[in-house]
Amino acid sequence: MLETSRKNIYIDLGDITKLDCQCIVNAANKSLLGGGGVDGAIHRAAGPKLLAECRTLHGCRTGEAKITKGYNLKAEYVIHTVGPVYSGAESDRRLLAECYRNSLDLAREYHIHSIAFPAISTGVYGYPLSEAATIAAATVIEWMETHPDDDISVIFSCFDKRTYELYQKLM
Ligand code: ADP
Repeated sequence: MLETSRKNIYIDLGDITKLDCQCIVNAANKSLLGGGGVDGAIHRAAGPKLLAECRTLHGCRTGEAKITKGYNLKAEYVIHTVGPVYSGAESDRRLLAECYRNSLDLAREYHIHSIAFPAISTGVYGYPLSEAATIAAATVIEWMETHPDDDISVIFSCFDKRTYELYQKLM
């Protein structure tokens, strides 16, 4: 885990399901019924009870976020958010930023003190990595500046070296 020059922001290279933090964020799809990529990895690691709880949530809109327990994960909670499928439209930016903001608002509501984000939308959903990482970093920094009394640590979980190096540069 790498500390950055920003207070309470960290970067980690590796599998988000292995992280020892209170909450991990899932880049889910609208059904919340599981998928590939990080979603598949989280469901595999959490076990079938996660899917059972997700079924009770009746999906999630793009940019919104819903919370469940973490079951077999080290994390106590999973926040499921749905990133935009990259289209090049102006709304992509806004919706991606909403994922980070809404997840952090939900974390705050649950008094969560550490939360890890994958690089939402940058896999199957096709968001160009450097644009998506720039939005992620800016949105998290802005949220932290507007919530100075919330002592919450944010970890950017990077599955590959390219993502890790990019976040390092951005921070
Ligand atoms: P999306 O549908 O939002 O694009 P993906 O799961 O396809 O979601 O990819 C989102 C990001 O998560 C990608 O950068 C991918 O490399 C990364 N990723 C995939 N598996 C993991 C994992 N186990 N831990 C952390 N990040 C992961």
